[in-house]
Amino acid sequence: RAKSLGKNRLVRYVPGMAQAAEDKATLLEDLTVATAAGQLAVHYQPTVALAEGRTTGYEALLRWHHPERGLVPPAEFVPLAEESGVIVQIGRWVLEQAVRQAADWTAEAGRPIAIAVNLSPRQLADDDVVDLVARVLTTTGLPADQLTLEVTEGVLLRDVDQVVDQLRALRELGVRIAIDDFGTGYSSLSYLRRLPADIVKIDRSFVQDLGSEGRSTTLVASIIELARSLRLEVVAEGVETPEQHAVLGDLACSHAQGYLFGRPQPAPAHDHGPLPTAAPAARELTGV
Ligand code: C2E
Ligand code: MG
Ligand code: MG
Ligand code: MG
Repeated sequence: RAKSLGKNRLVRYVPGMAQAAEDKATLLEDLTVATAAGQLAVHYQPTVALAEGRTTGYEALLRWHHPERGLVPPAEFVPLAEESGVIVQIGRWVLEQAVRQAADWTAEAGRPIAIAVNLSPRQLADDDVVDLVARVLTTTGLPADQLTLEVTEGVLLRDVDQVVDQLRALRELGVRIAIDDFGTGYSSLSYLRRLPADIVKIDRSFVQDLGSEGRSTTLVASIIELARSLRLEVVAEGVETPEQHAVLGDLACSHAQGYLFGRPQPAPAHDHGPLPTAAPAARELTGV
């Protein structure tokens, strides 16, 4: 009986699964081309220091302009890139673009502009990541403490000791580590304990209900308090309304991000050249 049920299930599910697998394969193929074809872009969203009310830095967010599908959100292609390993190459490019951009902005502004770059579990597991970050900082001249690397609890699904070693090595360079989407994971408190970190980013889902929903406000207040006791900086994600802003001010939250302050946007400056893996001829053209 179980066997025949299993068979039925196969008959019913296989076509859909095959379709999904094919879509995935096609998208991945496109993504591999996208990197060299200049379809990827980095957008920047401001981070604001709430007390002073000014922008202290930006988060780099990857965008893919697909020739037929239009803009594909990172939620759709980053997991695919992660699964296939392409993320290592794409992530390197994002890091280079973003750090160079922050160095340019810092020179233009005459004050330090910080940059946050999302680091995927696969990138963090890569042996070369520490060398890569060190090299990018040296090449661009950006002081290490102006670079934040954001990680999610996904990094703990890998070898925890190795992850912790890598994060420590990155911090030894002077780079700061942020725990992204804090509060949404299964083990937020345990990764606060295990991961060497400097910053927690309170997930948008908590910030959304601030003011309107008593529990969320209490939770956010507790996270801010917890961070303070651990001497971590706090960034509230996804602030959209003046009410949310006001509550965060009352809770003495130090930093925030969200559409209220600015959406992710392309850098105003010129393009910084193609992927490091792109054809050398193309690279020469832009003088990078
Ligand atoms: P994240 O790192 O937590 O980034 C915050 C996301 O919230 C971004 O979505 C941002 O556009 C969005 N956001 C910011 N403020 C608001 C707001 O006020 N309201 C709403 N509704 N949304 C807001 P995005 O750009 O679609 O990125 C989604 C996720 O994709 C990121 O979440 C990050 O996990 C991943 N991602 C993006 N760029 C990269 C990258 O270069 N490398 C890696 N590994 N992952 C990336
Ligand atoms: Mg992030
Ligand atoms: Mg986040
Ligand atoms: Mg997120």
